[in-house]
Amino acid sequence: MSISLDDYLETEEQAEKVLNVLATYNVYKPPVPTWIIQRMMPYLTMELKSMPEEVIGFSFPNKDKSHMLLNEKYSYGALRFTAFHEFYHLLNGKLGYSKDTPQGAAEEKKADFFAACLLMPARWFRKEWEKTGGDIEKIAKIFGVSVLAAHMRALNLEHYLRKN
Ligand SMILES: [Zn+2]
Repeated sequence: MSISLDDYLETEEQAEKVLNVLATYNVYKPPVPTWIIQRMMPYLTMELKSMPEEVIGFSFPNKDKSHMLLNEKYSYGALRFTAFHEFYHLLNGKLGYSKDTPQGAAEEKKADFFAACLLMPARWFRKEWEKTGGDIEKIAKIFGVSVLAAHMRALNLEHYLRKN
């Protein structure tokens, strides 16, 4: 897991911009709704489908009409995370990379990072952390993510705070 601090900050910043959009819809607290993706990309269709287990989701970008498919077999938290991961790819338009190339692997990490930043906005996360006394299971429920994702975000923010 290596992602440069610059990439990290850039991704956090991109997530902040989406939060500003959320504010225009009067959403100021978790969980971050996945409908924000469609508000920002009206030409996108999102579909829950039954797919082979090894696939959690993917997207096809297109100028006038993009599609995102999500595997209905996965949990609510996993699907939300994947939706925002795919949203990153659609926003950044670098879907052609193979995961086997260094550049492709970096994009995958950034997409995961972006999903975490967006589903668990730093300011909101800190607030809930204080309210719950750092109860990661409660926090995961509040944000509509897996316990693992909430745990990673907590570690991540600790790192972020130390650097700032
Ligand atoms: Zn990806």
